Amino acid sequence: MDGTTIGVIGTGYVGLVSSVSFANFGYKVIAMDSDLEKVNLLKSGEVPIYEPGLKEMFDRVTESGTIEFTGEMKYVVENSKVLFICVGTPPEDDGSADLKYVFEVAEGIGKHMNAYKVIVDKSTVPVGTSRKVYSVISDELQKRGLDLHFDVVSNPEFLREGKALYDFTHPDRVVIGSDSEEAIEIMKKIYRPLKVNEVPFVITNPETAEIIKYSSNAFLATKISFINEIANLCEELGADVNQIAKAMGMDGRISPKFLHPGPGYGGSCFPKDTRAIVNTAKKLGIEMKVINAAIEANEYQKHRMVIKIKRRLGDNLAGKTIAILGLSFKAETDDTRESAALVVIPELIDSGATIRAYDPKGTDEMRWRLKDFSPQIAYLENEYDACKNADAVVILTEWAQFRRLDLRRLSEDMREKNFFDFRNLYSREEVEDMGFYYEGVGR
Ligand code: NAD
Repeated sequence: MDGTTIGVIGTGYVGLVSSVSFANFGYKVIAMDSDLEKVNLLKSGEVPIYEPGLKEMFDRVTESGTIEFTGEMKYVVENSKVLFICVGTPPEDDGSADLKYVFEVAEGIGKHMNAYKVIVDKSTVPVGTSRKVYSVISDELQKRGLDLHFDVVSNPEFLREGKALYDFTHPDRVVIGSDSEEAIEIMKKIYRPLKVNEVPFVITNPETAEIIKYSSNAFLATKISFINEIANLCEELGADVNQIAKAMGMDGRISPKFLHPGPGYGGSCFPKDTRAIVNTAKKLGIEMKVINAAIEANEYQKHRMVIKIKRRLGDNLAGKTIAILGLSFKAETDDTRESAALVVIPELIDSGATIRAYDPKGTDEMRWRLKDFSPQIAYLENEYDACKNADAVVILTEWAQFRRLDLRRLSEDMREKNFFDFRNLYSREEVEDMGFYYEGVGR
């Protein structure tokens, strides 16, 4: 690659994975974050998030000197030709995306721009944001009396936490939304290392690129809510949702992906992005009935897990101890944003239960998120300690280590033998053979 330096602004899940991956491609990368504690951690060789393989790649690229970290906007802007915006776009109370961090960054770029730059919006943002970013930068340049040429590109990210490094380097497609030939050529060059994997580019205008991201996430969220509804129906009819999902997935038009029933989707993307697209449409007088239904079904699904537990243990859970295995929103991440545990644990506690919880990576974050419930929750060191003297065990996250529990040991250690497998990790027979009452989702 030529001497293009890539600036990445925001070093969270998307920003850090992008910076480390670009550095691994051989680019010179400057990664910037306004959170100086995070920057200092990164400078000292620590990775603040858990993502499989990230620490190893981080160590390699920091050692080779292709990446540096800074808290200074001026430094990253002046020294990079291409600037990726990777800051958070959290939901406002009405569900719309809060763009204050994106515009803060745009302002900073305008304040320090010194030559032609390509500004790339990788954060998930509503339609029209690229054009607004352009205006914010223009206004800042005008204040400085400068007439510098620059382009803004929409380049949404599709990586999944837990598989982020693989997804970044093996995306199904790279979407580039821009009206500028010059910027499109620069973007294609940056992503050229992906071409060895034959990754297709979708070149379009910024508005289309922005809506591609929301439509993709809303569709996947709807697919999950759909199979969860079928699972709930199966429970009442004595059918097996796993076989249904398998047979449905054999149809090429449907595909087997995202047809896994469970306790409802969570994370930083699906809940936020579905609400945001509904909100965008509402402002335009359009009701997104399908996506609204997917959101509602998902909220119900989390609550339904508590209904299932109470059907077995009773409405009043006073005196009951429940072991929760899995606090992160899915396996292989420490991210607990919108995880099922955030609904299930408080509802169980409100009904009188005491909780013993364990997660391989998400405990610290959950301790903070559920601080109001801390007297009723004990966080344990491993899955077996969590289950000691419990009246029920509830699996909420599909961590690999929860797939191979020593069921004999659990049956000896637990006070009552109730096994709620809300990720369908076990067959009913193997759990029942150990004397447990077993309940999965949709079986
Ligand atoms: P995150 O919260 O993990 O990280 C955001 C980072 O931006 C933080 O480190 C924060 O300190 C930093 N930041 C905030 N304001 C800043 C500023 N003014 N200057 C510099 N840094 C600033 O967020 P994330 O999960 O990486 O998501 C980032 C964006 O990417 C969101 O729009 C999200 O929807 C989208 N996205 C996320 C994922 C995912 O799986 N997490 C996948 C695809 C897309």
